[in-house]
Amino acid sequence: MENKLLDEEQNILYFDILKKNKHRLFEAFSDLDRYYQEPEDWEQIQSIMAQVTERMTENYPYFHPSYAGQMIKPPHPIAMLAYQLSMWINPNNHALDGGIASSKMEKEIIRSFKKYFGWKSGIGHLTGGGTMANLEALWLSGKINPDKYIIGSDACHYTHDRICSVLKLNYKTIPTDQRFRIDLNIVEELAKKNKIATLIANMGSTGTGSVDPLEELIHLKQKYGFRIHADAAYGGYFKLVSNLDVQTKTNFQHLAQVDSIVIDPHKHGLQPYGCGCILIKDEQLGKYYKHDSPYTYFSSDQLHLGEISLECSRPGAAAVALWATMQLLPLIPNGKFSNMLSKSRSAALYLYKLIEQSDQFENILSPELDIINFTCTEKSIRWMSEKNISLFNTLALKNIHLALNSIHINKLDNALRNNTIQDNDQLTVIRMCLLKPTHLDFVDKIWAKINTF
Ligand SMILES: *Cc1c(COP(=O)(O)O)cnc(C)c1O
Repeated sequence: MENKLLDEEQNILYFDILKKNKHRLFEAFSDLDRYYQEPEDWEQIQSIMAQVTERMTENYPYFHPSYAGQMIKPPHPIAMLAYQLSMWINPNNHALDGGIASSKMEKEIIRSFKKYFGWKSGIGHLTGGGTMANLEALWLSGKINPDKYIIGSDACHYTHDRICSVLKLNYKTIPTDQRFRIDLNIVEELAKKNKIATLIANMGSTGTGSVDPLEELIHLKQKYGFRIHADAAYGGYFKLVSNLDVQTKTNFQHLAQVDSIVIDPHKHGLQPYGCGCILIKDEQLGKYYKHDSPYTYFSSDQLHLGEISLECSRPGAAAVALWATMQLLPLIPNGKFSNMLSKSRSAALYLYKLIEQSDQFENILSPELDIINFTCTEKSIRWMSEKNISLFNTLALKNIHLALNSIHINKLDNALRNNTIQDNDQLTVIRMCLLKPTHLDFVDKIWAKINTF
């Protein structure tokens, strides 16, 4: 499958749409008095842009399926168009005054996300990314319950611990089981002692795409009364997908019952970076954001986005881009967007099978979403790590870009562990994020190069 934006005809359509709509946008302001502005030096702009272009060639081809390393995929063309068009307005969604249309779009997005997760109430807004969104959820936890613990598993994103240190809240790491899911027994022990303010449920871990047992966690929440914050920064969109394991699917259904959710449209939602989202179910918690800046809000007596957000200035363009994308690709099961995610999932299942059938390589675990972790087989853990690193480097030279992950050897299955000299606790493995829909058709090509290593 070819990259659409490389195709010259598609390029012409893209810039044609942008030009027409920019023209229409300025037509709406054509009654304004003329004003004088210094002309730009377009020759110099052109020459600097040529330098920019040269500088930008020093990148991995993140848009291409040969890049399967980190969680990066290209924004959808409609997101790019909408973002670029809104640059001519440059709205600021800190309040309605700064971005009238884009704030309305943001509120519609939040309504759609609430509906998607099965929430009947709640406030929410877009953020700079998942980290800022998680920070807000944990900040609220500290407001409600400053003395108890925030707990998350050792598979949680590394920023949770750091966020808690910024917020001066107690953070406790809970071990995970063989599938990198939080240990329920330890959670229950802590809950019995009434130690938990908020439990972070990992809905798609960054390392392996593991999903915590949310169904059981909700039972514990109901029994012991702690808050659950779902970090669905990576996995949130997978609630739509039909080809998940039954258990994983059930856990995603239980997002309806958590207290807060983070989802990152700039991960799986086809958006440019700078687009995370936080949803908070209890609308009363809006009171903690109260501030009395005298100069920001003039045009409405409703609760402004700026009154329920820790950040002040936020890009309205991010809301415009996401709104446009959600019109084209609504969050519905068996829709075009859900099928794209199913393809990523199929790509992971297919690669998992190829690895399973090979005698040179072993999977670390079966994928729960679209992330694969595997290793070469060798005599010892150190040798395996070295060979995996060498595979990673060699493939980069052959234009296949993977990532590395470090896992504790107690996560290896018994057969693999017992047949290997355990000369180290940590094993460096190959990690691949197959998050682009184009990955499915490309798996064979990637596998052929891995196999001839
Ligand atoms: C990416 C990610 C984050 C951090 O989000 P940013 O948008 O990179 O700030 C947090 N949690 C999980 C599970 C993630 O995958």
